[in-house]
Amino acid sequence: MKRTYLELVPGLEVTNSEISDLFGCANQGEMRRSLKTNTLVLISDKTKLYQDREEDSFFYYTGMGKLGAQSLTFQQNKTLAKSNENNVSIHLFVAYKKRIYTYRGQYELINEPFQEHQLDEEKNNRLVWVFPLRKRLNDTDKSSYTYSQSQKVGNHDSWDLHHNVAVKTADQSTFEYGETVIPKRIRPFFKSTNLKEGEEKEITLIYQEYMFFAKIKVQASGSPRHRLRWEKRFTLLINEYANRVQGEVKIYFIYDDEKTYKVSLSHTDIMDTVHTDVIAEELEQYGARTEGRITSYYGKKYERDPINRELAIQIHGVTCAACNFNFEQKYGERGRDFIEIHHIKPLSSLGGSTEINPKEDLVPLCANCHRMVHRQKDHVLTMEELKEILQKEN
Ligand SMILES: [Zn+2]
Ligand SMILES: [Zn+2]
Repeated sequence: MKRTYLELVPGLEVTNSEISDLFGCANQGEMRRSLKTNTLVLISDKTKLYQDREEDSFFYYTGMGKLGAQSLTFQQNKTLAKSNENNVSIHLFVAYKKRIYTYRGQYELINEPFQEHQLDEEKNNRLVWVFPLRKRLNDTDKSSYTYSQSQKVGNHDSWDLHHNVAVKTADQSTFEYGETVIPKRIRPFFKSTNLKEGEEKEITLIYQEYMFFAKIKVQASGSPRHRLRWEKRFTLLINEYANRVQGEVKIYFIYDDEKTYKVSLSHTDIMDTVHTDVIAEELEQYGARTEGRITSYYGKKYERDPINRELAIQIHGVTCAACNFNFEQKYGERGRDFIEIHHIKPLSSLGGSTEINPKEDLVPLCANCHRMVHRQKDHVLTMEELKEILQKEN
């Protein structure tokens, strides 16, 4: 099975040829674009020319061009400069020693590139372009194609806009003053774009079975700001929620009609879990495997192969091997002959061969058990572990 860059974790050391295999990119150059995986691999080689530097989660990356002044429209300098528009995902490697590349994770351009003086290959002073990058908050977020829809595109306020949902990261003004500024790009969502200075619009926020009154008000002074202000009870509720959970609190505004918004509260820990679950599911599909490390993922490809599935059902039947759930017993006609097939052998132990012994290697599992088995990408449960859990919990 083909390896993909999804299996990389920050800190992992790889060789040059592994980089080009994993990303489908060229095997030379410091900035490598892959159209195949829509990625841009950046290599910061400490043993070479450029003076890249790092501060906390920020990385100041010097563009390409070894001689004379660098150009922002030259090859991958352009790709990186436009990376917030072209949705290419940026992956950084640092080489501290020759030919060993340490993966640092996925980065994003957080500000306009700027120019500074550095020496070129012939020791002449020249202008280079420096790209301010920041490590993406969630290290495990590697599948940019899944998340590109919701990526922040070059804005740094505390709002995120998805289809018909606007998400506000709670801050001091939400917690203490019961209000927040609505930036320009969020105004269409709240249908407040056409409000004039001094005007206001009333809306209703619905949280579970509660209703709260809120107002969008356009301040009459200087540059008109749109403020959303809600009644005190909602502020209390947000504070109460924040005290119970870990991490940043997010307020989801879900559009109902132009005067009504459902709200729900969430926090970063939940989102990390959801994220991790999605990635675990993706890894099942891609069957990522890491040779030479303990971790090995199991391949959904084999589990979905109709012939394997048919053979497994013939041999093992359609009752869950872990919890005895039977779909036909529960769902009648609709559930007849339905079962998922789990492949219990790590792919790495298959070596180069893809031969499967359906009697030994495949087991029938109900959808619930199967999902739990795969839920943690770095720890796929064995049948023994799964049964032990079921015994303990019942
Ligand atoms: Zn089961
Ligand atoms: Zn499975």
